[in-house]
Amino acid sequence: MNTDRFRSILLEERERVASAIHHFHESNSHSLEDETEEETYDNHLADSATATLNREIDYTLEENSEHVLSAIDEALLRIETGTFGACVRCGKPINEERLEAIPYATRCIDCQRLEERG
Ligand SMILES: [Zn+2]
Repeated sequence: MNTDRFRSILLEERERVASAIHHFHESNSHSLEDETEEETYDNHLADSATATLNREIDYTLEENSEHVLSAIDEALLRIETGTFGACVRCGKPINEERLEAIPYATRCIDCQRLEERG
């Protein structure tokens, strides 16, 4: 397992999430109009759609970002302690493709499914 690679992915993601949180706290009063006003190009429609999409992603992020941030911190800690990539529930290695998609995953796909099923 190349934890150095995952460490840099996690640090990048952490940066992104941290600045998103900062952005939420700073720009709660900004309207969507403010963001789209500057778009004066001929692909205006596409840009508006992108802005709307980004806003939708923002809402999801806002709900989850603080949770994700602590999950990233925990994952970084697991890299330091050498337990990164092991499922916290069953102890088996988490599939590397899964870690590519969610580097801060704490459970293998089987345990995640069990969890979601309740
Ligand atoms: Zn597991």
